[in-house]
Amino acid sequence: MPTRTVVIIGGGIAGLATAVRLIQSGIKPIVLEKRPLLGGRAYSFVDKDSGEEIDNGQHVFIGACDQFQQYIADIGASDQIRLEDRIGFPVLKNGKTSWLKARKLPGMLANLSALLGYKHVGTAGKLRILWGLLSIKLTRLGKNSPHDQITFDDWLRDHSQNDETIRNFWNLIILPSLNDDITGVSAFTGIELFKVALLGAANNPAMGIPLSGLSTLVGENAKKYIESHGGEIRTGIDVESLHIDKGEISGVRTSNDELIEGEAVVSAVPANAMTKLIPGGNDGQPDFFTAAESVRTAPIVAVHIWYDRPVLTEKFVATLDSPLQWVFNDTDLKSRTDSGQHVVISLSGAWEWQDQPKQELREIFIAEMEKTFPAAREAEITKFTIVKMLEATFRVEPGSHQRRLSQRTPLPGFYLAGDWTDTGWPSTMESAVRSGNLAARYIVEDIRTGDQSSL
Ligand SMILES: Cc1cc2nc3c(=O)[nH]c(=O)nc-3n(C[C@H](O)[C@H](O)[C@H](O)COP(=O)(O)OP(=O)(O)OC[C@H]3O[C@@H](n4cnc5c(N)ncnc54)[C@H](O)[C@@H]3O)c2cc1C
Repeated sequence: MPTRTVVIIGGGIAGLATAVRLIQSGIKPIVLEKRPLLGGRAYSFVDKDSGEEIDNGQHVFIGACDQFQQYIADIGASDQIRLEDRIGFPVLKNGKTSWLKARKLPGMLANLSALLGYKHVGTAGKLRILWGLLSIKLTRLGKNSPHDQITFDDWLRDHSQNDETIRNFWNLIILPSLNDDITGVSAFTGIELFKVALLGAANNPAMGIPLSGLSTLVGENAKKYIESHGGEIRTGIDVESLHIDKGEISGVRTSNDELIEGEAVVSAVPANAMTKLIPGGNDGQPDFFTAAESVRTAPIVAVHIWYDRPVLTEKFVATLDSPLQWVFNDTDLKSRTDSGQHVVISLSGAWEWQDQPKQELREIFIAEMEKTFPAAREAEITKFTIVKMLEATFRVEPGSHQRRLSQRTPLPGFYLAGDWTDTGWPSTMESAVRSGNLAARYIVEDIRTGDQSSL
């Protein structure tokens, strides 16, 4: 039986992943989540209009997300995700479709071969892209790298890229991956993304898809694992602050003034929620945490349309020169067999759409669907809904790398997890799992060495 107890604030993927790792190290986690459901920013719910379980936003992962896939395996849910074997998706531009599709070649060559048949960039543009990728390969990134001070757009233009290659290739990947336009993200993160994905193994950029609703996939499966291995999960618990006694953490205090005790505490909440947990004046420690106050966020808007017949033949389609960005065929992805089709339009960096009323979005996006997919002109719309996530991801703007805090803090017994902490990954499920794995590793190391006095 576990002899030590660690309190984890937040039942999103980071908190749940921390709990799973602690259990594997013989430590009992108590996960406290303020909402009634687990999964944090990756959740699903039953839509009251359609009666269907829908995700709060289309979540995908790529082959390089190895720690996320391991987490899914650990909680016994590998059969609820599917990973393609290489990159391949159609891109629509002004009525013409062209695929970015890797050929069956070894390693990175497979990824580069995806450019060969891609017609939305001309031959000179492809040579530019290859030059850009080579420059990325040769770039070294470090902790205080100057690449965090400039935008990826500026860096690419300094490396022979032009409007054609940036709009039709680089930003096609950047916008959905980093939830921001290429002019808003740091060169550091952009370079890192292409190094890991396109310049890695053949399955690194391959698309992975959840096959079940997100609350089941990342929440319920984790709950079953954690509770059946001696851990505890309590929902509806709003943690107000850390409980610090004579400079040592001994638990947390909830908004109902309950003291929940543990030998260490992990904050697995977003950056702005974390800073509110620390009581002021902790021996000058807040200095370490101040950087987290300037972490900013970006919205995602999902437009759900139910048609009475199929309008999309592919599982997902990317678009250029259209507000549609990425369109997912949810019916096919979730292997439903109904005669109609549920389509999800995923709008990243959605500042333009976040304040628009549902009716206006309906008119705009139904017209765009009809313009882009001829079958939509004949189809009837049976249901329509919008999900707006105003703080969907943290922004990886220039300077943001410095704001990502280590999972080990100077406050003895207090650790951080959360996608925004220093994992090297952008705001993703992979980053959330990595942060949890690191937090758990530091706790275990500190127990072993006795470094943290409260342990
Ligand atoms: C619409 C959308 C689409 C996305 N698409 C993708 C994608 O395609 N691929 C991808 O990898 N990632 C995607 N993401 C990002 C991904 O969902 C997040 O990176 C990840 O879920 C973050 O997990 P987390 O545990 O770090 O934080 P969160 O999910 O924010 O979890 C924090 C938890 O802490 C709880 N909490 C906060 N304060 C307190 C408190 N005081 N007491 C108790 N509990 C508290 C919150 O309720 C929440 O459950 C998307 C996100 C959104 C919103």
